[in-house]
Amino acid sequence: MRAAPLYLQAQLALAAERHVEASRAIQDLASSVEASTGYPIQIVFEDLPPGADAYVQVAPLARHDCHLIHCTPFLSPPIRLHVIAHEITHIHLDHQTLAAGKACEFLTSARTRQFISGLYSAPARRMRRRGWSRAEIEEAVQADAGSLVTLLRNRADDLIVELWLSRHYPCLSAAQFLALSRLHEGDAHPADILGQDNLRPRRLDICSLALDCVCALLHDELCAPGTDFAAPYRDTEAFPLAFRLWQQWKAVCPSLGPGDELRLVDAFADILGLRQAYESRTQAVSALTPPPKAS
Ligand SMILES: [Zn+2]
Repeated sequence: MRAAPLYLQAQLALAAERHVEASRAIQDLASSVEASTGYPIQIVFEDLPPGADAYVQVAPLARHDCHLIHCTPFLSPPIRLHVIAHEITHIHLDHQTLAAGKACEFLTSARTRQFISGLYSAPARRMRRRGWSRAEIEEAVQADAGSLVTLLRNRADDLIVELWLSRHYPCLSAAQFLALSRLHEGDAHPADILGQDNLRPRRLDICSLALDCVCALLHDELCAPGTDFAAPYRDTEAFPLAFRLWQQWKAVCPSLGPGDELRLVDAFADILGLRQAYESRTQAVSALTPPPKAS
């Protein structure tokens, strides 16, 4: 759902007015993250898949000798600034979690695959009737399980990232407003998704929409009172679940520390009934070792 046009115009003007100040602040953030992590940050502008504005590969986790931010070149200056600030914040928070020895990776296993296959028992029968082979069904089901776990983790991380930016960089607030408005412009209508006769278990569609909705609720709070991104979710089956996620988020967000994003993922998964959809494993702190300096 779009932001109100008057608010959008006002935020466009404000973002232009603050662009130099905000750019300097984010450059300083980048420098301090480079110093604290021991790795340089490199930004690469390139075509990304539709719907993706940017993603980051954090040096010690991706086994690169720099943090690599991939960003689409097709963004206006304030939105590009916010998107880059968002990715730098991921680096900062990931590094704090690693330094605290709390970093985890999420994995699938025979147990998680069995759990997801169980959720798909009815859709799998429909897929077989449509001519899918057993191997094709299993491949599609497990790909969906992987994307669901990624969504769970990304949504929890992104709540923390956007809240952190709004708390620490008020000079970026207009750019954040514009970027979040753009993000929700492309939202599919939740009622349409739930109305489709698709091959995915309805329960998983409801979980995905509830995760999207909790982000929309936070974005409305950060952009208040100019937006109602959560409006399309309110009359759907996803909203009661989203509201429980939101209450969980509100209970923990005032006191988040390093690694708490992972506890948030587990708490969200408990509410959604998806705790058996993934395994987690601690990531080694030795991954923090900075690269050797060039002589
Ligand atoms: Zn993110």
